[in-house]
Amino acid sequence: MKYISFPINQYKLKYVSATSLLQLNIVDGKMQYLFDEDGRRYLDAFGGIATVCCGHCHPDVVEAIVNQAKRIQHSTVLYLNHAIADFAESLASKMPGDLKIVFFTNSGTEANELALMIARLYTGCNDIISLRNGYHGNAAGTMGATAQSNWKFNVVQTGVHHALNPDPYRGAFGSDGEKYARDVQEIIEFGTTGRVAGFISEAIQGVGGIVELAPGYLPAAYDIVRKAGGLCIADEVQAGVARTGSHFWGFEGHGVIPDIVTMAKGIGNGIPIGAVVTTPEIAQVLTRRSYFNTFGGNPVSTAGGHAVLKVLEKEKLQENAFVVGSYLKEQLNKLKEKHDIIGDVRGKGFLLGVELVTDREKKTPAKAEISHVMNHMKDMGVLVGKGGFYGNVFRITPPLCFTKEDSDFFIDVMDIALSKL
Ligand code: PMP
Repeated sequence: MKYISFPINQYKLKYVSATSLLQLNIVDGKMQYLFDEDGRRYLDAFGGIATVCCGHCHPDVVEAIVNQAKRIQHSTVLYLNHAIADFAESLASKMPGDLKIVFFTNSGTEANELALMIARLYTGCNDIISLRNGYHGNAAGTMGATAQSNWKFNVVQTGVHHALNPDPYRGAFGSDGEKYARDVQEIIEFGTTGRVAGFISEAIQGVGGIVELAPGYLPAAYDIVRKAGGLCIADEVQAGVARTGSHFWGFEGHGVIPDIVTMAKGIGNGIPIGAVVTTPEIAQVLTRRSYFNTFGGNPVSTAGGHAVLKVLEKEKLQENAFVVGSYLKEQLNKLKEKHDIIGDVRGKGFLLGVELVTDREKKTPAKAEISHVMNHMKDMGVLVGKGGFYGNVFRITPPLCFTKEDSDFFIDVMDIALSKL
């Protein structure tokens, strides 16, 4: 079945998808595969930007969504419904410590907006610290917290300070996390009253090009922020929900427990849903007024989210992300030995990055080359993402059902495309 005929609607397609990199009209999905309007199959190594965790159109998730849609779909705020409560309970059970109160939203941006507001209300302070190169959303507050000019529009963005990025590959202090954390201390001392509302960061930066934070950074930064009265917010929109393989949440890999956790993307396997999880004490601040969100956590989205958690467990997808993701990273490191253009291979599980540089010493971003390789890989039937501030990092974030054979195919295709440069 053809859904849109490409030539006739070319203009329209380009218009609706201004950010589409590959100009592909994707009409079907099945697990780790996508199909275009001509029925051509692609191995999907980007997973809708780390969004599809169980696999495209996973039958259990689809069934849960359809069954709920047949019973009742409604605004979240008027009545009680088991689909909502069951998912909230199940999500909270995945959290450490006292992180037991869940607020649902429709997206990652909304979740982070709410988290920033909660931190400000709870502390009575306004200043937020976020990391340079981080991405947290595109509404007023979250665009302020996002720290890449590529994603900032020229509108007022106040109250956020951007700390040095603890980037082991490009950062000034290499892998010394504690040295970078001193910058957080200085921001507090020289840029604020000495008290702050909070600190927000990803465990591994996704949009920023799969940047793993230097070891020791998060525990040190959390300590400094808490001494200044602030709350620590973990943005798990990309690193959460089993993707890193070693842990269910990315922050667990750093040995910290946040005060607020935000999530979206993977928790819905493609269905629009986000969430903020915090402690009962902190959550109290929202009782000062009514927090209203018509569709945040509606029954259909939460039924889908609940099914996702069950599939992750049933199919041991976190374990798969760990085992196959580690294998894929090993193979990428072998490609690095063969191709000088690969400057760095990094990430964990199925949140992997490959940075291309034209000069390994100077780390000159290979911007034109990466688009070539990406397009060539598409022609050979493999879809991969790219990102990073300079747009020169491959982002490999497949559905968590990606297999060892898929990884071998991916490596062969990337090898050929790099060899043709
Ligand atoms: N945080 C992170 C880490 C993200 O990667 C994104 C989206 N790329 C967001 C927040 C915003 O999520 P959304 O696009 O659902 O608003």
